[in-house]
Amino acid sequence: MRVIVVGAGMGGLAAATDLARQGCEVTVLEAAASPGGKMRHVEVAGRGVDAGPTVFTMRWIFEGLFADAGQRLTDHLTIAASDLLARHAWRTGGRLDLFADIERSAEAIAAFASPADAQGYRDFCARSATIHDTLVGPFIASERPSMLDLVRRVGDLRALWRTMPMRTLHSALGVHFRDVRLRQLFARYATYVGSSPFLAPATLMLVAHVEQDGVWQVKGGMRAVALALHGLAEGQGAGFRFNARVERVLIEGGRAAGVRLAGGEELRADAVVFNGDVSALPALGARGEATPRAKRSLSAITWCVNAPTSGFDLAHHNVFFAEDYAAEFDAVFKRRRVAEAPTVYICAQDRGAVGEAPAPGAPERLLVLVNAPPDGDVARFDASAEEARAFALLRACGLEVEREGMVATTPEGFHAVFPATGGALYGRANHGMAGSFARLGARGPLPGLYLAGGSVHPGPGIPMAAMSGRLAAARLLEDRAGRPRPVQGLGLQARAR
Ligand SMILES: Cc1cc2nc3c(=O)[nH]c(=O)nc-3n(C[C@H](O)[C@H](O)[C@H](O)COP(=O)(O)OP(=O)(O)OC[C@H]3O[C@@H](n4cnc5c(N)ncnc54)[C@H](O)[C@@H]3O)c2cc1C
Repeated sequence: MRVIVVGAGMGGLAAATDLARQGCEVTVLEAAASPGGKMRHVEVAGRGVDAGPTVFTMRWIFEGLFADAGQRLTDHLTIAASDLLARHAWRTGGRLDLFADIERSAEAIAAFASPADAQGYRDFCARSATIHDTLVGPFIASERPSMLDLVRRVGDLRALWRTMPMRTLHSALGVHFRDVRLRQLFARYATYVGSSPFLAPATLMLVAHVEQDGVWQVKGGMRAVALALHGLAEGQGAGFRFNARVERVLIEGGRAAGVRLAGGEELRADAVVFNGDVSALPALGARGEATPRAKRSLSAITWCVNAPTSGFDLAHHNVFFAEDYAAEFDAVFKRRRVAEAPTVYICAQDRGAVGEAPAPGAPERLLVLVNAPPDGDVARFDASAEEARAFALLRACGLEVEREGMVATTPEGFHAVFPATGGALYGRANHGMAGSFARLGARGPLPGLYLAGGSVHPGPGIPMAAMSGRLAAARLLEDRAGRPRPVQGLGLQARAR
């Protein structure tokens, strides 16, 4: 069976690996010059800086993908667990490190806030673990369920109720934390799926457990992950063509039958897996609907830096907060602008478990990120004005960055690389109880067309997008074999190990 995979992001690479392994003749067509998609690398002053994802979690999903292909993840990547999950600082004062070890974090929280907050944190960890364990098999590692399917799969209404789909993340955090800075810190997990903690369900607490389960650092940076997956797919027999933009999905007899490339070349296939954002499907003639602007997830303004820093001992992951978190999401999602004082995330990629800390005064590589509205198709963003505001917050927290030679990317820039998105980086926002069910599943809007990537179930983030690719491959093969049963529990053996 010939399968064309459009896009070499995490979802496309995972789908290509599984399909090639199971005997399909797979061709991956990628518009960019290299694999990885959002896992991009940007050259700054002669060095490649990771410009996309930096937090690597749910390692078991990648272990499962490699193991099923008869390989070991650790033979292809050097990865180490981070003891220090992230360093946090506030403009109004206070610094807090969060650790992989819950008790160590609880002690830090007791000293930073109060013993009651430390106990609240322990309870919060237990709660997020329960939510995670309830949903990892029936939701994350399984084909997209309807709400009713999920009730059936979990088989315990009370357990499902305890995932708190009716409550917002921010309000649920009030139960655990008196200190508003702690609410802010843990509410930020909603942004991992491009959402506002004031609109997303408390179910997203599960992200806290995902981090507790392991945040990994990769030697060679995140780019090494993309290269390893590319190598894995090629090793299973998948062929790759880069600089190959698909401009049309060909339809015959009502089925996806191949693609047409920019330039006019047509390639036939028995099935097509699309790894771009689902919003691009209508422009490719493949039916479907673009995500309405009001439902899009967060975009960002990022600065890739290669410069000396001083005044603040950066960890690998760092978050700098202003004081009014509600104002930030109000600005982005309602007023459609970057907040006056946005939260600033910095990945100092040379530091941490696998890096070598830069010598004092030597340049180091940073990804600096603030949240922005996903309006890159309808608005202009002034990167230098936003830069002044973001770096003023850093300075107020004690960090100086000598910022010569930075490369900025705005929502317009993301929209140009990820078409039809407005720069939304995570597909549709997970807002409201139904948000998690609103994403499309592996079956696309046409027979023979399958979907993989962060804009479809189970959602964004590199492990989830990889999981979506595995689900798309499994669905495609089940459909070809005439077995309508849902795909469930994919890769969970690797987690059990
Ligand atoms: C700045 C930033 C920070 C992030 N931080 C994190 C993080 O810390 N941790 C985390 O887990 N996740 C993070 N994410 C999210 C994560 O990167 C994504 O969810 C994930 O990488 C998406 O993978 P995907 O499979 O959807 O493919 P994508 O990365 O979206 O790639 C899709 C590919 O398809 C190609 N394509 C699309 N249309 C066509 C076409 N018509 N023809 C040919 N090719 C096409 C594109 O060129 C692209 O290469 C971050 C994302 C960004 C941008």
